[in-house]
Amino acid sequence: MADAGLTGQDTETKGQAPRRLPSVHAVLREAGLAQALASFGHAMSVAAVREVLARARSTGRGLDAAAAAGETVDALHAAQQSRLRPLFNLTGTILHTNLGRALIAQEAIDAAVQAMRHAVALEFDLDSGKRGERDDLLRDILRELTGAEDATVVNNNAAAVLLTLNSLGQGKGAIVSRGELIEIGGAFRMPDIMARAGARLVEVGTTNRTHLRDYEGAIDAETGLILKVHTSNYRIEGFTASVPADRLAGLARARGIALVDDLGSGTLVDLAQFGLPHEPTVREAVAAEADIVTFSGDKLLGGPQAGFIVGRKDLIARINANPMKRALRVDKMRLAAIEATLRLYRDPERLVRKLPTLRSLARPLAGIEACARRLAPAFPPPVMAQVTPCASQVGSGAVPRETIPSFGLALRGVPAETLAAAFRALPMPVIGRISEGTLLLDLRCLEDEAAFLANLAALPDRLANPR
Ligand SMILES: *Cc1c(COP(=O)(O)O)cnc(C)c1O
Repeated sequence: MADAGLTGQDTETKGQAPRRLPSVHAVLREAGLAQALASFGHAMSVAAVREVLARARSTGRGLDAAAAAGETVDALHAAQQSRLRPLFNLTGTILHTNLGRALIAQEAIDAAVQAMRHAVALEFDLDSGKRGERDDLLRDILRELTGAEDATVVNNNAAAVLLTLNSLGQGKGAIVSRGELIEIGGAFRMPDIMARAGARLVEVGTTNRTHLRDYEGAIDAETGLILKVHTSNYRIEGFTASVPADRLAGLARARGIALVDDLGSGTLVDLAQFGLPHEPTVREAVAAEADIVTFSGDKLLGGPQAGFIVGRKDLIARINANPMKRALRVDKMRLAAIEATLRLYRDPERLVRKLPTLRSLARPLAGIEACARRLAPAFPPPVMAQVTPCASQVGSGAVPRETIPSFGLALRGVPAETLAAAFRALPMPVIGRISEGTLLLDLRCLEDEAAFLANLAALPDRLANPR
């Protein structure tokens, strides 16, 4: 080993007597480091030792070789942890954008793994032996599930909207109701997307009321399309009026322009079966004769991140011919997962059991309460867990104002912020929500109780040694 040069002997720290630190070489020779050295390798171990010694030097803290070796082992293990490690989403928001939205069905996970491990016929027609199109993979099942004439897939729904507006509205006017000029999280603002797509925004109506005649009056020779946007994350209430898609479709058809309906979450099933208000399904939007309907893959649909564009064949062809399409395309792993997810919709009876998003949404209240009662006694003192009714929500802009009755645990005995930090520091972080000064764990999305309990064993340590 040629790394013996680094020692701390002559380093001074302001206002303190210089402390002696072991050499890198001496730390590497420590028995306590042997196993880590073998598993992480020489280069990573040396870098970690250097970092530990540098930290000790900068704080003026004395450290012997054995202690430095111990800290190095901890640092190596910490650095090895994925930044995307799994956590418990007990926020009560089923599709939490910051926590990765939909969980993927086992069938889709298996399909993605296969596609990762093997060469696949991504753009290759096995019958003819000629080049194929990746869009061919999903076209048929999307047509079957939505009733649309044709379909294509891009990176996410934001991309679907951008690509559609650019393909059909560049250099033309795009008419939108003032009540639907949405901003959704992460700086997706309809007027900005419109500008980037090269379409000229033509606002009609008012914030609370827009009528068919407003759209009619705005159509001229420069108009490219009418855009209807699902007001995903807010609701305008009171003295309101908006024009349903089927009436807009009639107007668009009569005037020879396209109607684009951005559904946002875009469910393929009727949410009424889960006690939620009816949201327009993709099939209904297509049946209302919107020319193009766009929706997300990882919201209520319950698949991986993706954006679907379904509708008229000639318009889909124009969208596919747009050079931007190439920049927004989806890779084989996701295509495999999307296909497997969509296939689950062919079997409505088993769908709710197999698709984690719908499983969480449909979970019986009594089952959640029973789970809360089983877990409540397991919390170590001074934490006290009280079973409490609470309200979950779908999240990601789907049915924004509706909540779903749920059960959770209100945790007391330790200040909420301190407790929340300790839960975030667990081996498998637990994310709850703080409500009226109390940390609440909504148990709707907890499926693996055993893993949760095993994880809880580390809580006393995290409370005693906050990070
Ligand atoms: C969520 C949403 C989008 C963006 O979809 P992503 O899949 O997150 O890119 C666009 N429009 C509406 C109405 C939405 O709700």
